[in-house]
Amino acid sequence: MERVIYLDNAATTRTAPEVVDVMLPFFSEHYGNASTVYGLGSKSKEAISKARETIAGILGAKENEIYFTAGGTESDNWALKATAEAYREKGNHIITSKIEHHAILHTCEYLEKNGFEVTYLDVDESGVVKLDQLKAAIRPTTILISIMYANNEIGTIEPVEEIGKIAKEHGILFHTDAVQAFGQVPIDVDALHIDMLSASGHKLNGPKGIGFLYIRKGVKIRSFIHGGAQERKRRAGTENVPGIVGLGKAAELAAATMEERTAKERELRDYMMARVLKEIPFTRVNGSRTSRLANNVNFCFQFIEGESLLIMLDMEGICGSSGSACTSGSLDPSHVLLAIGLPHEIAHGSLRLTLGADTTKEDIDLTIEAVKKIVTQLREMSPLYEDYMKKHV
Ligand code: PLP
Repeated sequence: MERVIYLDNAATTRTAPEVVDVMLPFFSEHYGNASTVYGLGSKSKEAISKARETIAGILGAKENEIYFTAGGTESDNWALKATAEAYREKGNHIITSKIEHHAILHTCEYLEKNGFEVTYLDVDESGVVKLDQLKAAIRPTTILISIMYANNEIGTIEPVEEIGKIAKEHGILFHTDAVQAFGQVPIDVDALHIDMLSASGHKLNGPKGIGFLYIRKGVKIRSFIHGGAQERKRRAGTENVPGIVGLGKAAELAAATMEERTAKERELRDYMMARVLKEIPFTRVNGSRTSRLANNVNFCFQFIEGESLLIMLDMEGICGSSGSACTSGSLDPSHVLLAIGLPHEIAHGSLRLTLGADTTKEDIDLTIEAVKKIVTQLREMSPLYEDYMKKHV
């Protein structure tokens, strides 16, 4: 296979070889069910405890506050639905933002159909939640604030500490979807007043289909999956031991390499951002320039369709992502790009590139050249661009 330049690490990451290595014996050798009493099962039980301990240590949490799930989507669903149910007597109001992942937004829509009221906060042009609006939205019936730690499209990091403080002052639970942030930024759940936090293995060079939900001790939360006694009866079902072991290892590696890795990603990302803005006219960067994940850049190229750009980049062996989602035959621009105030026609021309631990300067240089070439070709075919140039140049 030809070498691929993989710049879609926000979508998923390559499972690190060290992670695969520690997982393999749990398929073939240590396959015992963790709920059994014999030695083979104890191996699995010990491995699960070790992974739990590693993750709790990284977050400054206690081991019995970490619940393994099948990934970010499940963790988000659990946090929202179970809190809503458990705190229903206190109130029926939830606050979130307009730029959340669909795992949150669609869960909120479901809750709205079931008698809950949801306030969707606006964000500013960088994608930062408006704290004044948050304070004003709080009602006596507010039971939960769920705001993402960092946005998956534009990389903006939200003011999580301030949000946590506001929630705490008002006695409201605070959940954060940290699927993009865990492993990329240091997180201390106590310092940030986080009551629940969702994370996912495949975003940090771990396996797919495994994640966790941190639930602070004392939070009244219902069991999400009913059955056996696994995960303290709150999330029943025989544990995905290889996945849990892999997630634990991935978390350990991500924490150990965080400083060096993100410094390298930031440098390459800033280099790419500067060159693209300088060398390709009618281009903008979406998201915050200061409060942003180190590996994320999101561009809008005026007069082109992001989808066409993606397909042509793929032909050059470059994987990226666009903010548009093809739903019912029409291209809907991303809800995140619309929420930061971009008009539809500009939001359509978006390209998200997310770097990883393996990204090299050569990858970035090749990508910049390819993007330049393709954007020029697409603009040459664009009647909008032709029109604009006739009128303005
Ligand atoms: N939340 C955010 C912010 C994400 O970026 C994603 C995945 O893209 C999810 C939730 C869903 O996670 P998973 O793919 O593990 O279900």
